Amino acid sequence: MIVVGAGMMGSAAARHLALLGAKVALVGPEEPAQKAAHQGVFASHYDAARITRKIDTRPNWARFSQAAMARYGEIAAAGGVDFHHPVGAIVAGPEDGPKASMIRQAQENAQRDGIAFEALRGAALRARFAQFRFPDGVLALYEADQAGWIDPRAHVRAEIAGAVALGVALLRTEVQRLDEAGGVVTAHCADGTVLTGGKAIVACGPFSKAEGLLPEPLPMRVYARTIAFFELPEAEAARLADMPSVIYVPPEGPTDPYILPPVRYPDGKTYIKIGGDPADRELTTPAEMKDWFRTDGNPQAGAVMAEQLLRLMPDLAYRGITYGSCATCFSPHGNPFITHQTSGIMALTAGNGAAAKCADELGRLGALVALGEGIPAPYTGAFD
Ligand SMILES: Cc1cc2nc3c(=O)[nH]c(=O)nc-3n(C[C@H](O)[C@H](O)[C@H](O)COP(=O)(O)OP(=O)(O)OC[C@H]3O[C@@H](n4cnc5c(N)ncnc54)[C@H](O)[C@@H]3O)c2cc1C
Repeated sequence: MIVVGAGMMGSAAARHLALLGAKVALVGPEEPAQKAAHQGVFASHYDAARITRKIDTRPNWARFSQAAMARYGEIAAAGGVDFHHPVGAIVAGPEDGPKASMIRQAQENAQRDGIAFEALRGAALRARFAQFRFPDGVLALYEADQAGWIDPRAHVRAEIAGAVALGVALLRTEVQRLDEAGGVVTAHCADGTVLTGGKAIVACGPFSKAEGLLPEPLPMRVYARTIAFFELPEAEAARLADMPSVIYVPPEGPTDPYILPPVRYPDGKTYIKIGGDPADRELTTPAEMKDWFRTDGNPQAGAVMAEQLLRLMPDLAYRGITYGSCATCFSPHGNPFITHQTSGIMALTAGNGAAAKCADELGRLGALVALGEGIPAPYTGAFD
């Protein structure tokens, strides 16, 4: 079995395939040291923090996360890498008006799945989370158990180390082309390596659309995403030490933001991050994707998000704001693609902007489908 793409889903698929007894090669490059000059592929997990939570408006995604989060301890132990920071998470939105369906749906799903949360509004919300100025009429669901954030790079390191410990062969190169003939799939790699196997799983994030990998074009849309980073002085980071992650649909405003609490980044500085672009810009070719990943995002979009953060946290003390670029992949049905295109080549991609926290479950489902099983209950809908 060849897993192409050693990112969030691919690394998890490799570990689960090995747990299920398959012989696996996991192929994918490391993160580039200098992104501005890098000519190869990029990934959507090059960051220090991704929100994790079980409460979601979409039943499948709520359940992917429940399953994955129940295994965080196992993944960390298998790989010897900690990645989970359970500081709690808030999902918030207006209870009335045109945008009320988000919080209603999230609450309904949480109640149906028995996910513990505290429902807070008005004065109680302001007293409990004094760092935020949610307007009246907003309901916040605070999830304490396991919710918070994960370090996606560390998650990938943990999955890979766990997979390698189970015998998975790791090759740090790009696959340029997959061929299939006579029941054998051949992977031609950029470093000259040629691998053969009975099956290849393409888990290349946005670059799953690259020619030569999947035999059929995927109806997947890839969007450019900008992120704004507020650098915090040490005292401010300490003041906000118990801040939860936030998913917020404001009653009005240009975007629906998500906000990460103070996180120390590899440069030694501590940042609060906000994302949620005011507009979608589609990236259609790998060349366009690479051009975008090489940038520091779109400063106009970043400025809109920054304003939004300061409306929610007007007392925030910060040293400066910088921006970053990333990309998200969306499927028409809202589920990931976990599907065979031929008997030997399958897709495992389309995180719909939400696959970091639940990558381990998506990888497990990819492994099951690769081994000939269907997508099990309780998941519903299309995956192809
Ligand atoms: C700004 C931003 C914020 C996000 N926030 C959250 C969040 O808060 N919570 C959450 O759950 N999710 C979040 N996500 C989504 C999450 O990060 C993605 O869904 C997840 O990274 C997708 O995993 P993946 O394995 O499909 O892709 P990736 O993580 O991109 O991995 C794909 C891998 O394929 C490799 N690859 C590409 N081409 C080739 C090739 N030809 N040969 C070999 N390898 C190749 C790449 O090197 C990469 O390692 C966010 C995404 C973005 C962009």
